[in-house]
Amino acid sequence: MSNIRFQALQSILTRTIPEVKIPAPKISEFFAANVFDKKKMKELLSTEAFQGIINSIEKGETIPRDLAEQVASAMKSWAISKGATHYTHWFQPLTGTTAEKHDSFFEPTSDGGAIEIFSGDALAQQEPDASSFPSGGIRNTFEARGYTAWDPSSPAFIMARTLCIPTVFVSYTGEALDYKVPLLKALSVLDKAAVDVCHYFDKGIEKVNASLGIEQEYFLVDIALFNARPDLYLTGRTLFGHMSAKNQQLEDHYFGSIPERVYAFMQDMETESLLLGIPLKTRHNEVAPSQFECAPIYEEINLAIDHNQLLMDLMDRVAKRHNFKVLLHEKPYAGINGSGKHNNWSMITNTGKNLLSPGKTPKNNLMFLTFFVNTIKAVYEHADLLRASIATVNNDHRLGANEAPPAIISIFLGSQLTEVLDEIETSRISKKVKDDALLWQGIPKIPQILKDNTDRNRTSPFAFTGNKFELRAVGSSANSASPMTILNLIVADQLKKFKIDVDKLIKKGEKKDVALLIVIKKYIKESKNIRFEGNGYSEEWEKTAAERGLANIKTTPKALDALLSEKSETLFTETGVFTKREAHARHEILLESFFKKLQIEARVIGELGINIIIPSAIAYQSKLIENVQGLKNLGLNEATFKAQLDIINKISEHINIIKGDIDQMVDARKKANIIEDMREKAIDYDEKVKPYFQKIRYHVDKLEQLVDDSIWPLPKFRELLFIK
Ligand code: ADP
Ligand code: MG
Repeated sequence: MSNIRFQALQSILTRTIPEVKIPAPKISEFFAANVFDKKKMKELLSTEAFQGIINSIEKGETIPRDLAEQVASAMKSWAISKGATHYTHWFQPLTGTTAEKHDSFFEPTSDGGAIEIFSGDALAQQEPDASSFPSGGIRNTFEARGYTAWDPSSPAFIMARTLCIPTVFVSYTGEALDYKVPLLKALSVLDKAAVDVCHYFDKGIEKVNASLGIEQEYFLVDIALFNARPDLYLTGRTLFGHMSAKNQQLEDHYFGSIPERVYAFMQDMETESLLLGIPLKTRHNEVAPSQFECAPIYEEINLAIDHNQLLMDLMDRVAKRHNFKVLLHEKPYAGINGSGKHNNWSMITNTGKNLLSPGKTPKNNLMFLTFFVNTIKAVYEHADLLRASIATVNNDHRLGANEAPPAIISIFLGSQLTEVLDEIETSRISKKVKDDALLWQGIPKIPQILKDNTDRNRTSPFAFTGNKFELRAVGSSANSASPMTILNLIVADQLKKFKIDVDKLIKKGEKKDVALLIVIKKYIKESKNIRFEGNGYSEEWEKTAAERGLANIKTTPKALDALLSEKSETLFTETGVFTKREAHARHEILLESFFKKLQIEARVIGELGINIIIPSAIAYQSKLIENVQGLKNLGLNEATFKAQLDIINKISEHINIIKGDIDQMVDARKKANIIEDMREKAIDYDEKVKPYFQKIRYHVDKLEQLVDDSIWPLPKFRELLFIK
């Protein structure tokens, strides 16, 4: 049969499950074997060079040239001994994916031979031709150079016989062209602000870093079916498709047993990840059929984000070996759950203390409350910015849809901590307390193990889960650096303000702990509106949130406005995380990516509609017409071919509407394309072009239900969603 759908379905029948090679019986024996980590550096570098690297990682000190030379030489020998032939600077441009440009270690010599070379300069800095990466107008075409610079805080690793060196990516004029630069800046602002606040409690704390554990949801689909769906391989999601009779309604997939083929893929992916030092720990089925999740043990945030970017890349590579395609799109299939990437975040000191972990003593509790309440206040103050940081064309399908966190940013604390905050809010803090014992009575006891830890509210976009906050609104394909830069930055800014407020009171003669409690109480009151314990998916919440004055911006082009607000500009420039030009550039890039993705989807819908769907419907209609004519020739009356006539008519109706809507959509696109202002253009695409998608789809899906199954060319949802 020539139908590509049937060819794809047939090829699945011959699939065998590839054997997975596990390098050693115990994970501890091969974990991070392909990473040039601290342990290997200690082994291979001189004591002095090793200390230099540690100082650079821990204190941000620049690495002198001669030291870079030593590190490069050790790195090269190690990499070559592991079979690497090439090296690359590995970076995260604003395309959202990772970028690499490979160079060989090999260099010919004048005597006709060859040697392997890798210099300190090649390690420290590269100049990729950056003109094809998004820059939002920062990089003029006449100055197309950008450069990548080594980030020693994320260790080099070997992938596909290539030594990969994590780097930042900046323009020739020093402006950030990637996700890493602003993240590292925000982390250093947080470090300073949080350490200052820590000193109220413990003078011995020297450094605060953020921790992050990223849960990654994804779908798997057989590669042959994927390749038979141009919408999937061109846009990452299905633009047409009638829902499968059975989908997720029986809720039998979640945590169910993992299909054999998928299990083999997961094992393979985990092994590859573990070799690269990605500490994957959890795997399970998700709610939708063929939807899965994996999660690592949390790490220092910069590394956690690099690892997640690497993981997404790795998943795709490993999946090919198993004849799967990984779908990281936020909403690959309409009508069933989409995918997210929960960002579990906390702050941890160099002394190993988790600042969001309630303590045993009242003093520890005051410290916990300080960081806990400041985080709530920060999110309250900059909810719009946090919303903007997760806004993408893909995530618009999730936020505000029924199974994902709403576009309203709210915070869930659980009943016990809500009670604690309420108690403080209504308590009378006796000023001028002489006796410390009295003061400590003013601080409610916080149970060490919070019951809401297990019994949680899954509808909240930002939830406290025991000893960390969990930002759940991040899209599955996103680079977490974008929301995490904002989260760390707003918390840092809030902590700075907190210190000013507390110091003022201390100056006025208030005891330190009383001052802390007074400000905490004030913040609890001021930020109360963002706290919500109920069902975030309910319509009621939309109403209540509106009454509380919380924003509910459902679409990306408008959500992105927050990047340019006066409040954000002050925040960005005061902390130095984004210059005004950088903020504008990012805004522009995000809008451009938004409309371009809709433009591509619109084109694919047009092409598939005209070249695949309508011709298939007509083929079936012609068969019916032939049949009707045959019956007529036999002298049978109309009653015998009533059903056929009915289908013939319905097919014509749907075809006409599809063709008409596609024509109108093309016109709408032409109008949108000539709009010059990027924001207006994005909004026009969103409001004038995108609505056709659903209209056209409705009729295509009706045709799918009418047309002979053996003629229908696109793999159906029931075939895509259930792995055989
Ligand atoms: P669930 O699906 O119930 O949310 P998972 O076990 O799948 O839980 O994921 C929880 C994630 O939170 C893991 O990646 C874990 O390492 C991470 N995590 C736990 N404690 C912290 C912490 N203090 N800081 C950051 N992340 C954390
Ligand atoms: Mg979670």
